[in-house]
Amino acid sequence: MNSPLVATDLVQTYGEGSNATHALAGVSLSVAPGESLAIMGPSGSGKTTLLHCLAGVLAPTSGSVVWKGADLASLSDRRRTALRRTDFGFVFQSGQLLPELPAVENAALPLMLAGTSRTEATRVAAAWLAHLGLAGLEQRRPGELSGGQSQRVAIARALAGSPGVVFADEPTGALDQATGADVLSVLTSATRSTGAALVVVTHDEAVARHCSRMITMRDGRVTGEYVHEEAAR
Ligand code: ADP
Ligand code: MG
Repeated sequence: MNSPLVATDLVQTYGEGSNATHALAGVSLSVAPGESLAIMGPSGSGKTTLLHCLAGVLAPTSGSVVWKGADLASLSDRRRTALRRTDFGFVFQSGQLLPELPAVENAALPLMLAGTSRTEATRVAAAWLAHLGLAGLEQRRPGELSGGQSQRVAIARALAGSPGVVFADEPTGALDQATGADVLSVLTSATRSTGAALVVVTHDEAVARHCSRMITMRDGRVTGEYVHEEAAR
């Protein structure tokens, strides 16, 4: 499913009048199939808001996000939710695994929600866990895994559904630097191996080295764009 994700003139305003916050003040960007895009910028610059708009989690105040020829805002809530499950994968900072479920069931859950049988979803999830170095830990619950292992489960969960785009919001924010670097290289290389695009918000300069392109943001605007030739495909 080789389709770009195209955002045009995204504006997101919270509040009104003198209380208004322009979290996004006109952002246009496009994510090509298979590319990895890092989004950097200070806290409050609009990175999470941008990610949520791109992923159809949040409807922008104005502007559009087009995926496979459809404006996400034009879809019904049901269609948009279904599309998020089948086409997009998500990795958050931490704490987004269900604590009562074993790793393999956490990783299998989005596939099952999208209609895949439990047997098949579990098979795919286990294969991803093994691929990401977690063979033998399938039955551990999140509380029995390290921070780095938990993020690998989250990556397996994001990739198990063969998404077109993986969105990651500060996926290494809760990890020490060495573990974070490991997790990031797992995230970029595993995503790349599937042909999915990756959009990753990060504070970490080192992240950009793993990505084919980086944009910087400030006050709801894109302030810079850098193409990393070596990582570009
Ligand atoms: P970042 O991820 O770069 O730290 P965010 O996208 O979370 O930035 O936030 C951008 C701006 O929008 C900030 O000023 C933040 O306080 C504001 N903001 C974010 N979410 C909300 C919300 N739900 N209600 C009001 N203001 C918000
Ligand atoms: Mg944020």
